[in-house]
Amino acid sequence: MEKNSKYDVVIGLEIHLESKTKSKMFCSCLNDADERRPNINVCPICMGHPGTLPQINEEAIDNIIKLGLALNSKISNYTKFDRKNYFYPDLPKGYQISQFDYPVCREGFLDFKTEKGVKLVRINRLHQEEDAGRLVHASDGTSMVDFNRAGLALIELVTEPDFSSAEEVINFAKELQLIARYLNVSEANMEKGEMRIEVNLSLKEKGERELGTKVEIKNLNSFKTIEKAIAYEIERQAEILEEGGTIVQETRGFNDAKQITISQRSKEDSHEYRYFPEPDLPPLLISEERIKTLKGRIPELPQGKRLRLEGEYGLKDPKTIEVFVQNKDFAEYFEKVATEVLNWMQHKRIDKEKYFDLIKLEANYLTSDLLGLANGEIIDFSEKIIPENFAEFIVLIHNGEINSKIAKVVLKDMYDLKKDPTHIIEDKGLKQLDDEKEIDKIIESVLESNPSAISDYKNGKLASFQFLIGQIMAKSKGKINPDKAKEVLSRKLENI
Ligand SMILES: [Zn+2]
Repeated sequence: MEKNSKYDVVIGLEIHLESKTKSKMFCSCLNDADERRPNINVCPICMGHPGTLPQINEEAIDNIIKLGLALNSKISNYTKFDRKNYFYPDLPKGYQISQFDYPVCREGFLDFKTEKGVKLVRINRLHQEEDAGRLVHASDGTSMVDFNRAGLALIELVTEPDFSSAEEVINFAKELQLIARYLNVSEANMEKGEMRIEVNLSLKEKGERELGTKVEIKNLNSFKTIEKAIAYEIERQAEILEEGGTIVQETRGFNDAKQITISQRSKEDSHEYRYFPEPDLPPLLISEERIKTLKGRIPELPQGKRLRLEGEYGLKDPKTIEVFVQNKDFAEYFEKVATEVLNWMQHKRIDKEKYFDLIKLEANYLTSDLLGLANGEIIDFSEKIIPENFAEFIVLIHNGEINSKIAKVVLKDMYDLKKDPTHIIEDKGLKQLDDEKEIDKIIESVLESNPSAISDYKNGKLASFQFLIGQIMAKSKGKINPDKAKEVLSRKLENI
């Protein structure tokens, strides 16, 4: 990047999100992402037969309004649809119904975290359109078209050119993906093409006000690809500018095999699409009442959840918070256990001020040990351990009734056998040794049978201390609290 440091990188995004609706945008064909048979969900309307009339899918309009509201946008009371004309084999009508000058949502923004702090990106618009079909290229050189996807409700989001790095682009896209999932308006899975990102990138000399010529990059089907394509494109454009050349305004595709961007075609200006108002659809009017109702249906969003987990439960570690924010079900389990922890605290008369300590312990055991038992996969944990039992387990650790070593054994049994921790501890005789005399006896007998370790220790070999602790823990079957064992052992060694 050093040779490019004389340039500022300017990036804007166009993102398509497949809207989660029962049927297509303008007909009643099913929206079924799992349909493997080609051309099953098709009808004369989405095939563009003459004489058919489209009808607006209100569920799709609700979705785009909700997403617009979550992205702090203004929702238009008056919107309309337009025809975007182009010819491509996957477009049966020869045009796409889209929105040109009156999009549903305008002037939004999204702020999100980056390495340098919080970044705000302005969103120019969100408009409603329909998807094209899918071309399937067979190995024998023939191409086929599958129209199952043709006419699905598609949301297009256009940002202002506010990004200056791949990291910002990816963090924005990930946050948007999470918001779409929280709202249940799109699965936004990039690998499945439910979220498609186009990057518009240009360079300008530092301090220069005017933007450089932008190049559009397509075919980006993962966050990794976006990162690579941006890095490659910055290098390519900088090299051209360094040599005194000019950047051609064009569309380039990222070639995965070669890891480079390749020119596909010169970029069309909007007039080349010959937009005109869709004559078969009336303008779409969106009432304030509808907007208000939808606003009321917006659930807690990722950023709200982050702040609440911190405020309500005292969680401090951003990584732990993120595990819960990324997984709604896991967060729900965490909160259920936390409620039960409070019940157990009252029951066991634990000072309320200790609540955050216990919750921190809970969060740690959930995100490390419990997740470990499930091989890192987030499953329905309440099926394995009911929240009440997990809370009891946390209280037992907090009270020192079991140490961290025993805790691992107990948790595994809770997970495998679906039993409550107290019964497991009783059945297996795992209760921590509290009896001072008993502890004394065990340590004495270990010292008696290891005279050489004692003299080694006395001669300055500190490892012998750890060896003796190991012997003590083994003899007590892990039931002595290690801290307690260390304390008694040091005292005894001093007096020998
Ligand atoms: Zn149809």
